[in-house]
Amino acid sequence: MRADFHLHTHYSDGRYSPEQVVQKAAEAGLEGLAITDHDTAGGIAEARSACLKANIEFVSGAEISSAISDNEIHILAYNFDPEYESLLGLFESQQERRLQRALEFISVLRKNGVDLAPDEELALGIGNRGEAIGRPHIARMIVASGSAASMDDAFGEYLVPGSPTFVPKSFPGVEEVLKLVREAGGVSILAHPGHMTSHADLIKLIDLGLDGVEVVHPSHDKVLQKYYGELADRLKLIATGGSDYHGWQRGDEENLGNYFVHWVSGGNLFHPRTL
Ligand code: AMP
Ligand code: ZN
Ligand code: FE
Ligand code: FE
Repeated sequence: MRADFHLHTHYSDGRYSPEQVVQKAAEAGLEGLAITDHDTAGGIAEARSACLKANIEFVSGAEISSAISDNEIHILAYNFDPEYESLLGLFESQQERRLQRALEFISVLRKNGVDLAPDEELALGIGNRGEAIGRPHIARMIVASGSAASMDDAFGEYLVPGSPTFVPKSFPGVEEVLKLVREAGGVSILAHPGHMTSHADLIKLIDLGLDGVEVVHPSHDKVLQKYYGELADRLKLIATGGSDYHGWQRGDEENLGNYFVHWVSGGNLFHPRTL
Protein backbone atom coordinates (compact mmCIF):
# COMPACT_ATOMS: atom_id res chain seq x y z
CA MET A 1 0.00 0.00 0.00
CA ARG A 2 1.06 3.59 -0.52
CA ALA A 3 2.02 5.23 2.75
CA ASP A 4 3.17 8.73 3.71
CA PHE A 5 5.22 8.72 6.90
CA HIS A 6 5.91 12.45 7.16
CA LEU A 7 2.91 14.73 7.73
CA HIS A 8 2.39 17.77 9.97
CA THR A 9 -0.82 19.01 11.63
CA HIS A 10 -1.72 22.05 13.69
CA TYR A 11 -0.37 20.27 16.76
CA SER A 12 2.94 21.69 15.51
CA ASP A 13 3.50 23.93 12.50
CA GLY A 14 1.04 22.35 10.07
CA ARG A 15 -2.07 24.15 8.95
CA TYR A 16 -4.74 21.46 9.31
CA SER A 17 -6.17 19.27 12.05
CA PRO A 18 -5.32 15.56 12.13
CA GLU A 19 -8.81 14.77 10.73
CA GLN A 20 -8.29 17.16 7.83
CA VAL A 21 -4.83 15.77 7.07
CA VAL A 22 -6.18 12.20 7.08
CA GLN A 23 -9.00 13.28 4.77
CA LYS A 24 -6.56 14.94 2.37
CA ALA A 25 -4.27 11.92 2.45
CA ALA A 26 -7.20 9.65 1.59
CA GLU A 27 -8.18 11.93 -1.31
CA ALA A 28 -4.57 11.78 -2.53
CA GLY A 29 -4.81 7.98 -2.75
CA LEU A 30 -2.76 7.09 0.34
CA GLU A 31 -3.63 3.95 2.28
CA GLY A 32 -1.26 4.25 5.23
CA LEU A 33 0.25 7.14 7.18
CA ALA A 34 1.89 8.54 10.25
CA ILE A 35 1.54 12.11 11.39
CA THR A 36 4.92 13.40 12.52
CA ASP A 37 4.44 16.65 14.38
CA HIS A 38 7.49 18.39 15.79
CA ASP A 39 8.14 17.39 19.40
CA THR A 40 4.62 16.33 20.34
CA ALA A 41 2.39 13.29 20.48
CA GLY A 42 -0.66 15.58 20.88
CA GLY A 43 -2.35 14.75 17.56
CA ILE A 44 -1.85 11.00 17.55
CA ALA A 45 -5.13 9.91 19.16
CA GLU A 46 -7.19 12.07 16.77
CA ALA A 47 -5.22 10.89 13.75
CA ARG A 48 -5.58 7.26 14.80
CA SER A 49 -9.35 7.44 15.07
CA ALA A 50 -9.66 9.42 11.82
CA CYS A 51 -7.60 6.71 10.06
CA LEU A 52 -9.78 3.99 11.53
CA LYS A 53 -12.86 5.69 10.06
CA ALA A 54 -11.19 6.30 6.69
CA ASN A 55 -9.84 2.73 6.51
CA ILE A 56 -6.24 3.95 6.45
CA GLU A 57 -3.43 2.03 8.14
CA PHE A 58 -1.90 4.11 10.94
CA VAL A 59 1.29 4.14 12.96
CA SER A 60 2.30 6.61 15.70
CA GLY A 61 4.90 9.20 14.72
CA ALA A 62 6.75 12.35 15.76
CA GLU A 63 9.63 14.47 14.42
CA ILE A 64 12.03 15.23 17.24
CA SER A 65 14.50 18.14 17.03
CA SER A 66 17.86 16.98 18.25
CA ALA A 67 21.58 17.55 17.79
CA ILE A 68 24.70 15.63 16.88
CA SER A 69 28.11 17.34 17.03
CA ASP A 70 26.29 20.68 17.45
CA ASN A 71 24.38 20.21 14.19
CA GLU A 72 20.59 20.18 14.21
CA ILE A 73 19.00 16.96 13.05
CA HIS A 74 15.42 15.73 13.01
CA ILE A 75 14.68 12.23 14.25
CA LEU A 76 11.45 10.68 13.00
CA ALA A 77 10.17 8.32 15.68
CA TYR A 78 7.59 5.68 14.76
CA ASN A 79 5.55 2.95 16.30
CA PHE A 80 6.21 4.06 19.87
CA ASP A 81 3.76 3.95 22.75
CA PRO A 82 2.29 7.48 22.72
CA GLU A 83 1.58 7.24 26.45
CA TYR A 84 5.14 6.34 27.48
CA GLU A 85 5.93 8.75 30.33
CA SER A 86 9.62 9.50 29.74
CA LEU A 87 9.06 10.21 26.05
CA LEU A 88 6.12 12.47 26.91
CA GLY A 89 8.45 14.18 29.39
CA LEU A 90 10.92 14.87 26.58
CA PHE A 91 8.11 16.28 24.42
CA GLU A 92 6.95 18.52 27.26
CA SER A 93 10.39 19.97 27.83
CA GLN A 94 10.82 20.49 24.08
CA GLN A 95 7.46 22.32 23.94
CA GLU A 96 8.50 24.52 26.86
CA ARG A 97 11.82 25.29 25.14
CA ARG A 98 9.93 26.15 21.95
CA LEU A 99 7.55 28.43 23.84
CA GLN A 100 10.42 30.28 25.56
CA ARG A 101 12.16 30.67 22.21
CA ALA A 102 8.98 32.04 20.63
CA LEU A 103 8.59 34.61 23.42
CA GLU A 104 12.24 35.59 22.98
CA PHE A 105 11.69 36.00 19.21
CA ILE A 106 8.68 38.25 19.88
CA SER A 107 10.63 40.41 22.29
CA VAL A 108 13.68 40.75 20.01
CA LEU A 109 11.48 41.46 16.98
CA ARG A 110 9.64 44.23 18.85
CA LYS A 111 12.98 45.77 19.89
CA ASN A 112 13.94 45.73 16.22
CA GLY A 113 10.87 47.65 15.14
CA VAL A 114 8.55 44.86 14.05
CA ASP A 115 5.09 46.00 15.06
CA LEU A 116 3.62 42.74 16.34
CA ALA A 117 0.07 42.92 17.69
CA PRO A 118 -0.03 43.33 21.49
CA ASP A 119 -1.79 40.03 22.07
CA GLU A 120 0.57 37.83 20.07
CA GLU A 121 1.80 36.07 23.22
CA LEU A 122 -1.76 34.89 23.83
CA ALA A 123 -2.11 33.79 20.24
CA LEU A 124 0.78 31.40 20.85
CA GLY A 125 -1.74 29.32 22.74
CA ILE A 126 0.08 29.31 26.04
CA GLY A 127 -1.53 26.54 28.02
CA ASN A 128 -2.59 24.52 24.97
CA ARG A 129 -0.88 21.38 26.13
CA GLY A 130 0.44 19.11 23.45
CA GLU A 131 1.06 21.83 20.88
CA ALA A 132 4.57 22.61 19.72
CA ILE A 133 5.29 26.17 18.56
CA GLY A 134 7.87 26.83 15.88
CA ARG A 135 9.30 29.57 13.72
CA PRO A 136 6.42 29.31 11.20
CA HIS A 137 4.10 30.65 13.93
CA ILE A 138 6.39 33.67 14.34
CA ALA A 139 6.67 34.09 10.57
CA ARG A 140 2.88 34.27 10.34
CA MET A 141 2.82 37.03 12.98
CA ILE A 142 5.47 39.02 11.12
CA VAL A 143 3.46 38.79 7.89
CA ALA A 144 0.30 39.87 9.78
CA SER A 145 2.19 42.89 11.17
CA GLY A 146 3.07 44.04 7.64
CA SER A 147 6.84 43.73 8.17
CA ALA A 148 7.17 40.97 5.55
CA ALA A 149 5.20 40.22 2.41
CA SER A 150 5.35 36.42 2.67
CA MET A 151 6.36 33.59 4.98
CA ASP A 152 9.53 33.14 2.90
CA ASP A 153 10.43 36.80 3.30
CA ALA A 154 9.73 36.66 7.04
CA PHE A 155 12.09 33.69 7.38
CA GLY A 156 14.79 35.21 5.18
CA GLU A 157 14.79 38.55 6.90
CA TYR A 158 14.14 37.70 10.56
CA LEU A 159 14.21 34.02 11.41
CA VAL A 160 17.34 32.42 10.02
CA PRO A 161 20.88 32.33 11.44
CA GLY A 162 22.69 35.46 10.36
CA SER A 163 19.71 37.76 10.74
CA PRO A 164 20.03 40.14 13.73
CA THR A 165 16.75 38.91 15.22
CA PHE A 166 17.64 35.21 15.11
CA VAL A 167 17.23 33.29 18.37
CA PRO A 168 19.07 29.97 18.47
CA LYS A 169 17.30 26.80 19.58
CA SER A 170 18.77 24.34 22.07
CA PHE A 171 18.38 20.63 21.50
CA PRO A 172 18.51 17.39 23.42
CA GLY A 173 21.43 15.19 22.42
CA VAL A 174 20.57 12.43 20.00
CA GLU A 175 21.70 9.68 22.40
CA GLU A 176 18.88 10.61 24.77
CA VAL A 177 16.34 10.74 21.93
CA LEU A 178 17.36 7.32 20.56
CA LYS A 179 17.20 5.83 24.06
CA LEU A 180 13.75 7.19 24.90
CA VAL A 181 12.24 6.22 21.54
CA ARG A 182 13.59 2.69 21.92
CA GLU A 183 12.31 2.42 25.51
CA ALA A 184 8.89 3.51 24.25
CA GLY A 185 8.96 0.58 21.81
CA GLY A 186 9.61 2.72 18.74
CA VAL A 187 12.21 3.11 16.02
CA SER A 188 14.30 6.17 15.13
CA ILE A 189 14.73 7.28 11.54
CA LEU A 190 16.91 10.18 10.38
CA ALA A 191 14.68 12.71 8.59
CA HIS A 192 15.72 14.21 5.23
CA PRO A 193 19.40 13.23 5.57
CA GLY A 194 20.26 14.88 2.25
CA HIS A 195 18.97 18.18 3.44
CA MET A 196 21.02 18.88 6.53
CA THR A 197 23.21 16.00 7.65
CA SER A 198 26.82 15.23 6.75
CA HIS A 199 27.86 11.70 5.88
CA ALA A 200 30.15 11.69 8.94
CA ASP A 201 27.23 12.49 11.24
CA LEU A 202 25.07 9.84 9.55
CA ILE A 203 27.74 7.19 10.20
CA LYS A 204 27.97 8.31 13.83
CA LEU A 205 24.20 8.06 14.16
CA ILE A 206 24.20 4.52 12.76
CA ASP A 207 26.86 3.58 15.32
CA LEU A 208 24.67 5.04 18.04
CA GLY A 209 21.78 2.77 17.01
CA LEU A 210 19.77 4.70 14.42
CA ASP A 211 17.21 2.30 12.89
CA GLY A 212 16.70 3.86 9.50
CA VAL A 213 16.82 6.76 7.09
CA GLU A 214 14.16 8.73 5.30
CA VAL A 215 14.82 7.93 1.66
CA VAL A 216 11.86 9.58 -0.06
CA HIS A 217 11.47 13.30 0.69
CA PRO A 218 10.75 16.37 -1.48
CA SER A 219 14.21 17.78 -0.69
CA HIS A 220 15.88 14.66 -2.18
CA ASP A 221 16.38 14.52 -5.92
CA LYS A 222 16.42 11.12 -7.66
CA VAL A 223 20.19 10.77 -7.18
CA LEU A 224 19.96 11.29 -3.41
CA GLN A 225 16.92 9.03 -3.20
CA LYS A 226 18.84 6.24 -4.90
CA TYR A 227 21.90 6.89 -2.75
CA TYR A 228 20.05 6.68 0.57
CA GLY A 229 17.93 3.76 -0.66
CA GLU A 230 21.02 1.72 -1.50
CA LEU A 231 22.70 2.73 1.74
CA ALA A 232 19.65 1.54 3.69
CA ASP A 233 19.65 -1.77 1.79
CA ARG A 234 23.32 -2.44 2.40
CA LEU A 235 23.29 -1.52 6.06
CA LYS A 236 19.93 -3.21 6.67
CA LEU A 237 18.35 0.04 7.79
CA ILE A 238 14.65 0.78 7.59
CA ALA A 239 13.85 2.97 4.58
CA THR A 240 10.92 5.36 4.98
CA GLY A 241 9.57 8.38 3.19
CA GLY A 242 6.85 10.94 2.87
CA SER A 243 5.84 14.38 1.72
CA ASP A 244 6.62 16.52 4.83
CA TYR A 245 3.22 18.10 4.15
CA HIS A 246 2.50 21.21 6.23
CA GLY A 247 -0.53 22.54 4.31
CA TRP A 248 1.04 25.94 3.72
CA GLN A 249 4.50 25.35 2.24
CA ARG A 250 5.21 25.72 -1.46
CA GLY A 251 4.58 22.45 -3.29
CA ASP A 252 2.61 20.85 -0.45
CA GLU A 253 -0.56 20.06 -2.40
CA GLU A 254 1.37 18.59 -5.37
CA ASN A 255 3.65 16.60 -3.06
CA LEU A 256 0.87 14.94 -1.08
CA GLY A 257 0.25 11.56 -2.72
CA ASN A 258 3.44 11.79 -4.80
CA TYR A 259 6.04 11.19 -2.07
CA PHE A 260 5.28 7.82 -0.53
CA VAL A 261 6.76 4.42 0.22
CA HIS A 262 5.24 0.98 -0.14
CA TRP A 263 4.19 -0.42 3.19
CA VAL A 264 3.30 -4.06 3.53
CA SER A 265 0.68 -4.24 6.23
CA GLY A 266 1.85 -6.65 8.89
CA GLY A 267 5.25 -6.57 7.20
CA ASN A 268 8.47 -5.68 8.88
CA LEU A 269 8.94 -2.02 7.97
CA PHE A 270 8.81 -0.96 11.58
CA HIS A 271 10.65 -3.84 13.12
CA PRO A 272 13.84 -2.46 14.59
CA ARG A 273 17.03 -3.38 12.83
CA THR A 274 18.75 -6.37 14.35
CA LEU A 275 22.46 -6.69 13.81
P1 AMP B 1 11.64 25.40 14.21
O1 AMP B 1 11.29 23.99 14.54
O2 AMP B 1 10.99 26.39 15.11
O3 AMP B 1 13.13 25.61 14.08
O4 AMP B 1 11.00 25.69 12.77
C1 AMP B 1 11.38 24.85 11.71
C2 AMP B 1 10.25 24.74 10.70
O5 AMP B 1 10.14 25.95 10.00
C3 AMP B 1 10.54 23.69 9.65
O6 AMP B 1 10.00 22.45 10.03
C4 AMP B 1 9.82 24.23 8.44
O7 AMP B 1 8.47 23.84 8.51
C5 AMP B 1 9.88 25.71 8.63
N1 AMP B 1 10.96 26.41 7.90
C6 AMP B 1 12.26 26.37 8.17
N2 AMP B 1 12.96 27.18 7.33
C7 AMP B 1 12.05 27.76 6.52
C8 AMP B 1 12.11 28.71 5.45
N3 AMP B 1 13.28 29.23 5.04
N4 AMP B 1 10.96 29.06 4.86
C9 AMP B 1 9.79 28.54 5.27
N5 AMP B 1 9.66 27.65 6.27
C10 AMP B 1 10.76 27.26 6.89
ZN1 ZN C 1 7.70 21.86 10.29
FE1 FE D 1 12.34 18.26 9.49
FE1 FE E 1 8.86 17.69 8.92
